[in-house]
Amino acid sequence: MKILVANIGSTSLKWRLFDFSNNAERLLHKGGFERVADYPKAIEDCLAQLKDAGALANESELAAVGFKTVIAKDVTGCVRLDERVLGAMEAYNGLAPAHNPPYITGIRLFGKRMPGVPLVGLFETAFYQFAPEAMMRYAVPDAWRDIGIRRWGFHGASHKFIAERSAELLGRNDVAERVRKLYVDGGKTSVNGTSLRVISCHLGGSSSVTGINSGVAIGTSMGMSPQSGLPQNNRVGDLDAEAIPYAVKTLGITNEEAQRQLTKESGLKGISGVSNDIRDVHKAVADGNAKAKLALDVYVASARHWIGSYFFEMGGADAIVFTAGIGENDFAIRSGICAGLEGLGIELDAALNASTRATETVLSKPSSRVKLLVIPTNEELVVARETKRLLESSRN
Ligand code: ADP
Repeated sequence: MKILVANIGSTSLKWRLFDFSNNAERLLHKGGFERVADYPKAIEDCLAQLKDAGALANESELAAVGFKTVIAKDVTGCVRLDERVLGAMEAYNGLAPAHNPPYITGIRLFGKRMPGVPLVGLFETAFYQFAPEAMMRYAVPDAWRDIGIRRWGFHGASHKFIAERSAELLGRNDVAERVRKLYVDGGKTSVNGTSLRVISCHLGGSSSVTGINSGVAIGTSMGMSPQSGLPQNNRVGDLDAEAIPYAVKTLGITNEEAQRQLTKESGLKGISGVSNDIRDVHKAVADGNAKAKLALDVYVASARHWIGSYFFEMGGADAIVFTAGIGENDFAIRSGICAGLEGLGIELDAALNASTRATETVLSKPSSRVKLLVIPTNEELVVARETKRLLESSRN
């Protein structure tokens, strides 16, 4: 069974082709185009590359095309992308203006190009659909909630990958199995052992922290939009609701300009004044730049704030997992996050931490009650797996 996963940006198309034949998971091909002006041509070129590489004889060989869709009104999970679902995505264009419109356009173009191939979306909000309302509700009037102003959560594919893989690595196949079936049976797969409490830290270009109890998310740092939670590369993260009207009035800027500054000139870039890439910020710190140091300190403090929140909520943690560009590679950030927490049973092995880059590793000392792990994430594989499960469950 071959499944193509298409990652759609407003001017980019990236893909991975997976083959699930013979109970294996094989990546057959990956590629992409930036600065796409003609999307139908980009889809054509993608198919041509797959054929040239011998990965695909004909598009009719595709069991489905899977998409890491973001958010839709009253729809989540892993679903077939028909006009009803596309309409539900359109209804929430205002919540994800950078993501939903290009996805909707791209999905329609794929549908036109290959009408016989099922199109499937795994929504980024899916992983949080079972989180308690108390963890997801903002304290706003009902009318606000009714238009979608609540915590939704994002990075769902990544945190789900971590939920499954961490359970496997911790010897909890019962929990891993629950995670695998989450969108098929709604988390009803029973768990044999005690609860498994994992705090997943996706630290990358954008960052989020999610608390996961026995495979099910209990809450996440990102809220109504991917704008909240930790400071992002160039986006603000959490901000007091009064800040925008106050800045608009006091700085004499428009709402749109305020929004632009908060989404383009804030986060690590905004505080450091150096760059939106944490590697550049580290270099500036080494050169004695105090603003760059503050940017890293704010980032670490925010990560600790959210990790602490789920640690408390779950009555502790069995594991804290670091993933994505920063989480997998940046030992200084990992070490800052874990500093001084020995009293909570969190003991980082400093030498192992310093030498670990993007490979599955246990970073904690053997005596640490809380395991500290690096697990490279694989969001596209999650989309492909869920797409396969949806096809199989609708066949049965
Ligand atoms: P996204 O998909 O959200 O863009 P990634 O998971 O690809 O995020 O992470 C990208 C970020 O990870 C980069 O902006 C960079 O700051 C950081 N990063 C990548 N490699 C390294 C590294 N070797 N050391 C520290 N940070 C890194």
